[in-house]
Amino acid sequence: MNTAATTNNVATERSAKRSRASTQPGAEAVRVKGRLRANKWLLLRRISQFGILALFLVGPWFGWWIVKGNLSSSLTLGVLPLTDPYLLLQSFSAGQLPYQEALLGGGIVLAFYLLFGGRLFCSWVCPVNLVTDAAAWLRRRLNIKGGKTPSAYTRYWLLAFTLGASALTGSLAWEWVNPVSMLHRGLIFGFGLAWGVVLAVFLYDLLFASRGWCGHVCPVGAFYGLLGSGALIRVTADKRRACDDCMDCFNVCPEPQVIRPALKAVGQDHPLILDKDCTSCGRCIDVCGKDVFRLTTRFDRSES
Ligand code: SF4
Ligand code: SF4
Repeated sequence: MNTAATTNNVATERSAKRSRASTQPGAEAVRVKGRLRANKWLLLRRISQFGILALFLVGPWFGWWIVKGNLSSSLTLGVLPLTDPYLLLQSFSAGQLPYQEALLGGGIVLAFYLLFGGRLFCSWVCPVNLVTDAAAWLRRRLNIKGGKTPSAYTRYWLLAFTLGASALTGSLAWEWVNPVSMLHRGLIFGFGLAWGVVLAVFLYDLLFASRGWCGHVCPVGAFYGLLGSGALIRVTADKRRACDDCMDCFNVCPEPQVIRPALKAVGQDHPLILDKDCTSCGRCIDVCGKDVFRLTTRFDRSES
């Protein structure tokens, strides 16, 4: 076979892989690594998300009060206060001084996400991630294309707006409509308006904007992203030389723009994903049939 024919075959094979990847990313990883290893991080995340929900629910449902409260503010085993620092920021903007316990709880949460990665909250804790992941999955399966996705900066404008609105109204402005706390409170205390808000987020991501809510609109995600800009835990594409351009990682990543600098050496020479918007979800690690990605720390810039 001549060189031109070989090149054509490789190009055709890559193009077929890419088109398969857009509806069924991870198929090759399942074949190479097995179903369990090709979904390892996804399974661990679901255990974390449902486990955290369960800790909050067993109190009101069965009277086992391991954790009291909700994601905005809680007390674990009667001793460990945890408070959402974004909620505290809205409180300060509104001119309200929170209780000392809430301040301590905010400090603990702040320290955790500063150190380990702000958007761990999005992929490992936030219940809305289950909704937006479901919308993204269905959008891929139904091969829905197009829609109008707002600029990724929208979330930062909205973040600033919510703090300004809190200052003007003297209230926690975002909490009136925040799908994260509405869904969480809805699960604990029963749904009312929350169903409508959650359904709206699902339909928005499914029909109008691919990964639109978490990647472009949600100010909570924006806040946690800023918080974890210098965090320790990172994903590296250290085996990027093995990449065969199948695009599976880009297809499953909730923030695909974070991958290119590390994988394709665009604007940086090391393989570490340092972008604050990477949620450390590990899905790129799961779906890569060539094992290009792995979890590491921000100090590990090695390449193999
Ligand atoms: S971006 Fe917002 S809704 Fe999405 S997972 Fe993060 S906190 Fe939850
Ligand atoms: S780069 Fe990987 S770990 Fe980061 S958000 Fe995308 S899929 Fe998740």
